[in-house]
Amino acid sequence: MIIVLLGPPASGKGTFAQTLVDHHGWIVFSAGQALRDMAAGKSPRAKKLAAFLKRGKLVPNAMVAHLEDDFFRAHHNKKVLLDGTPRNVSQARAMEKVLKKFKSSFTAFLFFDATEKVSWERIRARVQCEKCHRIYGLQIKPKKKGICNACGGKLIRRKDDTKGVLHDRFRVYQRETLPLVEWAAQRYPVFYINANRSPQSALKQAKTALSILE
Ligand code: AMP
Repeated sequence: MIIVLLGPPASGKGTFAQTLVDHHGWIVFSAGQALRDMAAGKSPRAKKLAAFLKRGKLVPNAMVAHLEDDFFRAHHNKKVLLDGTPRNVSQARAMEKVLKKFKSSFTAFLFFDATEKVSWERIRARVQCEKCHRIYGLQIKPKKKGICNACGGKLIRRKDDTKGVLHDRFRVYQRETLPLVEWAAQRYPVFYINANRSPQSALKQAKTALSILE
């Protein structure tokens, strides 16, 4: 089962994925996290990648494609949540081909819809564990300030979680990712999640969608 989580930054995709992994055995692939890990290195390639991430631009398809290929090679027959990837129609088409190679396909898309204002309110409160990448924010709070509940790692802010970069990421989202919703709706079940309400409400809606699919 391959479920795509679509939506603007901080619309609740990652928190939803995290909740399921913790309790229900789903496997999550976040291209954004995989890219951040790669960008942390010192090589010229890492530096090039870090420059894309810092500006909130999509990295070239080829840099993401091989990450996805490796991921699906290992996990295509499991319960998979794709957190924020594919990001546009051309990536979705390429991913369909990869999945076909492994005799698999997208099961459904969950579209987390949120305004830029809501996205910014969540991002302002968002921190992430530098070790295990667990997300904390308006909904999930650390028991000890600045320390991850799960692994004791330090909680940090993402470098691209600033108001200026969010503005650019939002434009990229509107231009690249929103058309993907319409593309997906013509081919696969698409569930609409109103993420402008409370984070709890978005989680509930998303869980209901999954219960229909499972
Ligand atoms: P995210 O963690 O999903 O917010 O993504 C963080 C950043 O990683 C984005 O702003 C892009 O620079 C990059 N990124 C994530 N997923 C993709 C993708 N599928 N294609 C290209 N760039 C991506």
